[in-house]
Amino acid sequence: MTAPHPDSTVRHLYVHVPFCPTICPYCDFHVLTRRAGLVERYLEGIEAEAARLAQGYAVDLDTVYLGGGTPSFLRDAELAALVGSVRRHLGWGRTENTLEVNPGTVSPERAAHWRALGFGRASVGVQSLDDATLKFLGRQHDAQQAREAVTTLIGADFRVSGDLITAVPGQPLESDIRGLVDLGVGHVSAYTLTVEPGTEFARRGVTVEEDDEREGFERTEALLGALGFTRYEVSNYARPGEESRHNLAYWHNRLYLGLGPGAAGHYPASGNGFLSRRWTNPHLHDWLAGERPEVQDVDAAEFVTDALFMGLRLRDGVDLAELSGRSGVDVRGAYAEPIAANVRRGLLMLEGERLCATPQGWWALNRVVTDFLEEPGAALTTSSRQ
Ligand code: SF4
Repeated sequence: MTAPHPDSTVRHLYVHVPFCPTICPYCDFHVLTRRAGLVERYLEGIEAEAARLAQGYAVDLDTVYLGGGTPSFLRDAELAALVGSVRRHLGWGRTENTLEVNPGTVSPERAAHWRALGFGRASVGVQSLDDATLKFLGRQHDAQQAREAVTTLIGADFRVSGDLITAVPGQPLESDIRGLVDLGVGHVSAYTLTVEPGTEFARRGVTVEEDDEREGFERTEALLGALGFTRYEVSNYARPGEESRHNLAYWHNRLYLGLGPGAAGHYPASGNGFLSRRWTNPHLHDWLAGERPEVQDVDAAEFVTDALFMGLRLRDGVDLAELSGRSGVDVRGAYAEPIAANVRRGLLMLEGERLCATPQGWWALNRVVTDFLEEPGAALTTSSRQ
């Protein structure tokens, strides 16, 4: 084992805005509708937390991502205050600044305001361009509003990504995909409808058949591939150069700060022999009350399995030599057994130092990663770390 050389400067920032106009029946994110005074207190909390983070870490941002929730649901002055806090204490992204946008919140004036604040990329929650599907999903916008939102944002010079939900009963997937691409988006995130416990869909007994899920998965790739999009991650497709640089940082297991209630982050280690720390902020009311985040130190073995779990989602996979350098673990040696077993099963490919999932492997990624988690060599490596 060689000495690890993990990152220490943080180059990515996620900001969580937990407010939405209404709560969608499939949503299990940390969201709530706005109430008098709550947004003001949230903004004060953001100002204080951004100042604390700036004191605690070396920060030099490449990307900023405002997600939620519905960040575009903040009023113009509120969003300006939030961006002001970020810029004052942590700076702004050099290469990419993304705002998640709900179609119902877009107008030419607001798009111009968002551009003036410094956002250059918009991730738009289109979900479908079929009114019946949108109604089933409990969305507040209709197909026409979604089209207008994307067109307006492209007209305001945003790089636009459209979110789609697939495997919705009765959804016309082909026209959803063609319609979105025809609007001019350069990036599509396509996630299968999942019914999480505790959501309204779960209470109503909505289910998604595995066959529908798989069909949605395969047809989306075929349709978007034919339209010039590369599937660069399990659920994400881009024209060349339109990949999400911020999300690539997650999949490359880079460090990022998480600002705001419910935000997760991947922080530098605090000098106690670990490689990094995972950090999850409490939900809004506890966050406002000053409750501390949940912190988990990441040792070398966890660092490697996290990197594999996320990196194998990428078409380009994981550079094992680079990961060995960052973690101090001889990854090819410590994980020789699960690598060989999954290559034999046709789920992974090893080309030089690059380990990638095959198309079948992408479908069975949880199974592949479980093999790595169970590898005794991983624990051995950890216990030998100083
Ligand atoms: S808009 Fe998005 S974050 Fe808000 S409730 Fe709906 S799915 Fe959840």
